[in-house]
Amino acid sequence: MRRCQAPSQVARREEGGGGPSTPPVKRRCGGRVEEERAPLAAVQARAPIIASCAPLASLSPHEALIRSLLNKPFRVPLPGYTGGGARSLGVRRSGARRALHDPTEEGALVLHLPPALTAEERLRVNPLTAEVEVVVDPLLSRVLRPHQREGVKFMYDCVTGARVEGHHGCIMADEMGLGKTLQCIALLWTLLRQSPDCKPLIDKAVVVCPSSLVRNWSNEIHKWLPGKLSPLAMEGGTKEQIDRDLRGFINTFGRRPHNQILIISYETFRLHSGVINSGEVGLLLCDEGHRLKNSENQTYSALMGIRCPRRVLLSGTPIQNDLLEYFSLINFVNAGLLGSAAEFRKRFENPILRGRDADATEAAVQAGQAAMAAMAEIVNRSIIRRTQALLSKYLPVKVEQVLCCRLSPLQAAIYDSFCSSDSIRRALRAEGGAKMTSSSLAAITSLKKLVNHPDLVHPACREGKEGFESSMQHFPAGHDPARLRPELSGKLAVLDCLLAVVKSTSDDKVVLVSNYTQTLNMFESLCRTRNYPHVRLDGSMTIKKRAKVVDEFNRPAGAFIFMLSSKAGGCGLNLIGANRLVMFDPDWNPANDEQAMARVWRDGQKKQCYIYRMLAVGTIEEKIFQRQTHKKALSSCVVDQEEDVERHFSLSDLRDLFKLEKGTTSDTHDKLRCPRCVAGVQVRPPPDNSDCNSDLSAWHHATTKKGLQDMALKQVWDVGVCFAFHHVSHQQITTV
Ligand SMILES: [Zn+2]
Repeated sequence: MRRCQAPSQVARREEGGGGPSTPPVKRRCGGRVEEERAPLAAVQARAPIIASCAPLASLSPHEALIRSLLNKPFRVPLPGYTGGGARSLGVRRSGARRALHDPTEEGALVLHLPPALTAEERLRVNPLTAEVEVVVDPLLSRVLRPHQREGVKFMYDCVTGARVEGHHGCIMADEMGLGKTLQCIALLWTLLRQSPDCKPLIDKAVVVCPSSLVRNWSNEIHKWLPGKLSPLAMEGGTKEQIDRDLRGFINTFGRRPHNQILIISYETFRLHSGVINSGEVGLLLCDEGHRLKNSENQTYSALMGIRCPRRVLLSGTPIQNDLLEYFSLINFVNAGLLGSAAEFRKRFENPILRGRDADATEAAVQAGQAAMAAMAEIVNRSIIRRTQALLSKYLPVKVEQVLCCRLSPLQAAIYDSFCSSDSIRRALRAEGGAKMTSSSLAAITSLKKLVNHPDLVHPACREGKEGFESSMQHFPAGHDPARLRPELSGKLAVLDCLLAVVKSTSDDKVVLVSNYTQTLNMFESLCRTRNYPHVRLDGSMTIKKRAKVVDEFNRPAGAFIFMLSSKAGGCGLNLIGANRLVMFDPDWNPANDEQAMARVWRDGQKKQCYIYRMLAVGTIEEKIFQRQTHKKALSSCVVDQEEDVERHFSLSDLRDLFKLEKGTTSDTHDKLRCPRCVAGVQVRPPPDNSDCNSDLSAWHHATTKKGLQDMALKQVWDVGVCFAFHHVSHQQITTV
């Protein structure tokens, strides 16, 4: 039924007594543009409904009230219908255009302001075609923090082409925990309902994300916009069902579809891109968008085929390995902004990389810096990145510590014999510094396991596997790997003590992270030995089960220890029940480590946080860590535009993986050629404006426990720590 003929509306017209009781003029429901833009005189000549076409200024208070009532969304009394919103069925919006939400209200977030007019221009302007303000729904603007308001405005300006002419995309690269999802929901909701032209800018949007986050997106939308939007979340189903649903979504146009947002995983999108790419979409949002770092893969081409000019890519880590990845991401949202791939390589990538090498000439360094500046100038217009430093205001202090731990004598002996074994030497010679082959990858894995605990390579030693031919002799006689002896590993001995100190002196809880299932097994065995209540997140757990485990852990009575595989990622996992986190081994990819750390130091955390990153001194772990730092330096330079990220590691340093650096307290510190330390003593403190986001050279350097901020670490230092880099997130503001 048309709304104008509904009994309630007829009754309202009658009792309202507004205007003659002529039958309502038949009008189109769709509200076509030409009709809305009809000259004022022509519109007024028609029989008005409740004088709704009178100019705004001449409205009596009563009329204004009626109009405001009519402008409220009409709710269809059908169970389950949640199409709500501001456009009402059957009745055209009142004559003069108005913003959907009051731009003058306190705290209103105005994304678009019509051009300012002089008094004279205002008289001449046609109220039926005038631009209106675009104002974020107060439902959302009330909960947005200042940086999130800024983020929504930024994205709005990008996707409407107001920032970079002819381009409608952007990258939202805020670090974890800054509320990227909420900012995107605010953008989506605004575009689906408003524009300066007083009608929705888009009628549908697609959110592509990892399959584990499909449900999460749907939940977030329901959480922030209860009953306002009903997203179509593609979670399983047969190929036919999915195709049918997608066709339904993509082929609805001309009127507002029931499902205005499609949430779909990258895999499902790729398999069904034919259907989706057959129609047009108003906005495309790619979560965890660093999946699109490779422009050669199928997902990338499938997504590139989508007919959608407005693209937002979300990523906490926009650049990981090389600048070409960065190019892929920018090119995805704003095709052509950086030229073709070949042009990009020639103009930016090559000079930048040449300039970053520690062996670079002065001229190469300068050319690199110039290329970097030119590139930053272009891309920074469509990329927004804020770091967690912003959150300091809301979060307790975080103490981050990188600990170099000594190897146990057993580990050192096996490490030595492994690196000097004939088979490893042969393998390394054969490589000639070229790309890693499977045998050198296996050797890396063996060493990484060895530094976690010799028991993890015990089977390989027993069988005399490649590199371990003469290792068995180093194990103590009668060694039984089934009985865990923490002291046989330098790092595990430190961890064991640390846990004991924390358990006995506080009610803090601890998250333990490792790359290896076997290492997690070892943690479990340690917990059983020490009678520590513990839980472990398993990659095979259903998402529901995961949520339950996490909830239980976060309760005050929850377990003491939470074990997490850094591979299982735990994107979005919230472990604020713990305030200490140990990364037992470094990952090649700094993003994985950072995601793990963000589990604890995040919104809702009330206690001071301690992060421990353990490295076996002089070993492959330090080298992996150095490589991470190198990548991070590159990343923060491009994305955060920090001019003077120092060039610490040359590429040849990084090839030197299989050499055990002996007699050092920290190979990483040695390589910094630190001017602030003399004979192992820090004589000058880090710069005042530094924090744990700064380069390691600007952290505190310690070869003794003196000056450490963490009492627990002080107590375990002598067990096997020989060096610590430490720093804090910010200075706590003291309140009286
Ligand atoms: Zn130093």
